[in-house]
Amino acid sequence: MDNSEKLFQNVQYLKSVGPKRAKAFNKAGINSIYDLLFYFPVKYLDRTKLINTQQVIEYVINGYEGEVTIIGKVDSTELINTSKYRSKFSKNIFKVHFRDDTGFFECVWFQGIKYFKNKFNKNDIVAISAKPVISKYGHLQFTHPDFDKLDETESLEFLNTGKIIPFYKLTKELKSSNLGDIQLRKIISGAVKEYKNYINETLPAALLAKNHLPSINKAITEIHFPSTTEKLLIAQKRFKFEELFYLEIIIAKRKFFTKYHTKGFSLKPKTNLIKAFLKTLPFNLTNAQLKTLSEIKKDMSETTPMNRLIQGDVGSGKTIVALVAMLIAIDSGFQCALMAPTEILASQHFENISALLKNFDVKVNLLLGGRSSKEKVKTLKNIETGKSQIVIGTHALIEEQVVFSKLGLIVIDEQHRFGVAQRAKLIGKSFTPDILIMTATPIPRTLSMTLYGDLDISIIDQLPANRIPIQTFVRNENRLPKIYKFIIDKIKEGYQSYIVYPLVEESEKLDLKSAIEYFEKLKLTFFKNIRVGLLHGKMNWQEKESMMKKFAAKEFDVLFSTTVIEVGIDIPDANIILINDAHRFGLSQLHQLRGRVGRSNKQAYCILVTNKTIESRSANLDYNFEFMSKTDIEKSKAAIRLNAMQNISNGFDLSEIDFKLRGPGNIFGKEQSGLPSLIFSDIIKDSEILIAAKNEAFGIINNDPELNNEKNKILKYTLTKKYNSEIDFINIA
Ligand code: ADP
Ligand code: MG
Repeated sequence: MDNSEKLFQNVQYLKSVGPKRAKAFNKAGINSIYDLLFYFPVKYLDRTKLINTQQVIEYVINGYEGEVTIIGKVDSTELINTSKYRSKFSKNIFKVHFRDDTGFFECVWFQGIKYFKNKFNKNDIVAISAKPVISKYGHLQFTHPDFDKLDETESLEFLNTGKIIPFYKLTKELKSSNLGDIQLRKIISGAVKEYKNYINETLPAALLAKNHLPSINKAITEIHFPSTTEKLLIAQKRFKFEELFYLEIIIAKRKFFTKYHTKGFSLKPKTNLIKAFLKTLPFNLTNAQLKTLSEIKKDMSETTPMNRLIQGDVGSGKTIVALVAMLIAIDSGFQCALMAPTEILASQHFENISALLKNFDVKVNLLLGGRSSKEKVKTLKNIETGKSQIVIGTHALIEEQVVFSKLGLIVIDEQHRFGVAQRAKLIGKSFTPDILIMTATPIPRTLSMTLYGDLDISIIDQLPANRIPIQTFVRNENRLPKIYKFIIDKIKEGYQSYIVYPLVEESEKLDLKSAIEYFEKLKLTFFKNIRVGLLHGKMNWQEKESMMKKFAAKEFDVLFSTTVIEVGIDIPDANIILINDAHRFGLSQLHQLRGRVGRSNKQAYCILVTNKTIESRSANLDYNFEFMSKTDIEKSKAAIRLNAMQNISNGFDLSEIDFKLRGPGNIFGKEQSGLPSLIFSDIIKDSEILIAAKNEAFGIINNDPELNNEKNKILKYTLTKKYNSEIDFINIA
């Protein structure tokens, strides 16, 4: 057995493990010694925060209100029943008395006493972290503190040398095999000492040196048993870098694969169709639209297929840009497909585009699932013979295997979730059409860099000049009658309004407002003399479409709706949106909904209605959620979201807040993206490391796409060893 093979032995061969504990380790996902070396600490006890009893007392007297860490030895424990003092409420209190070299302190528990009672034995050495208080009897006291047990030598070393002590997650299984913090630390310490030099390096030496990162073996030692805080940070950085670097290598490979291994057409306009079309528009394109168009035009003229994403806030005018791209394709003799996420959006695009092209000889067709009529058969035929030039539909267009005669461009509207797998489907066997994806879902830059790293990106960062900023208000629900009156008054000025309700499940509480219920009620009361309509998700698409058409034709003034109007809908005279139970919506959803209004030169209003408990909450983003109950956290986050909506109109700024509130989590979704999930790093917090890793990865793949260079051997090896499934994904594509 060579050294690196030794690493892949079962953990049972480690000192103090054995077959029985090995089973518990296996259940925690740790099978080999290698796995254990990569079972990183979840927190560290760091001497910089440590003080003794005497110092803590001084801190408290001087008004310090933060947390401290203190190490003490257990003197005695005490279970107190308060019924002695108060007859009515009998309650138990559990106390542990500690001492250190400078004095005494106590820890108190009011809850979970059964559990804590058995945790402390005389002379145990414990590190306590909590906010200190001085009790009315003058004792230094900690209530429900965090505590970690240490052993004697550890604590002496810690106190004398300032060594940092790691803590690992103790799973249920590990605990039940009689492992505590101290024993687990000993086992891992043994493994690190014996095996740390056997791990194969996964990054080229030059790359490590250039980015000032330690070798893998050094980093493993420092991440488990850091000699200093600085070295710990550097070790953590190495693992973050490595993870993000391989992520970017995969993305870069994907990008280069589609660029050089797929063939496309060079699409160049033959006539002056585009010029003639732009002349018919009642407005000039914005500079951002023009810039994006020139990027698209260049891509389309090349023989490598276009793979471009247009990011633009709601209302920035992406549809016109896409339409011009389609006209480029048509003018060079090709067909186009436009895919929308919903049937109403598809049919809205069909209406709008047909109207915009009414003076031109371009054949536009709508193709939706379901309608297997004579008409549909005819449309399919037209697509196959090439008579149909623009085909608009949902992704049934690719799933139903519609046969095109000469498909040159696919436009995908409002589908940020349109995954790599779906994109892969579009890439034909012999040739690949140009692909243009449009999204209004703003996401932080580092996230789009990653999620869409294999695409070229155009950003429309400018709204048409005639727009007046939308006024957004957060209002208590008891103001609804006034808001209804406002909506009704505004009808006289030609305003139309949306009244939106969250989706309500049957099982949910009755205090939530549902669209259908309120539509029935309000049309008989407040809106008795007003023309109203209802739109909800249970209607079939023909019903939805006819409703939207009537609303667009101003056959009624107020549309009651569920969130089916969320993306893309464009009705210029609808300039008020009232969102009920707004606290139930996510930030990007609220922003999308708000984007339904403010699409003309009239003042638009967005009214977010919520209940009193949320309206009255402070909306401070710097909250420490750690000490709040779950419902309190929910309410505070809702207050922050609504406040952000009121003060911020830019979708990208809102998305930063959204991601802060939502925390890291797995933002990719492996199924969708085919990207590895991140374990050590966080795309938002570690954005600097991400950018460095991306530059390195793209640089390497640019020079050596197949990683055949001797100096990149280590990368190729690691890639096939660790990222096999993600690499397969590239080959599908
Ligand atoms: P989104 O980017 O949200 O998809 P749309 O493409 O639906 O936005 O455009 C929103 C509205 O703005 C449409 O009514 C469109 O006709 C109009 N519009 C687009 N470009 C301009 C422009 N340059 N100047 C004025 N209005 C524009
Ligand atoms: Mg749109």
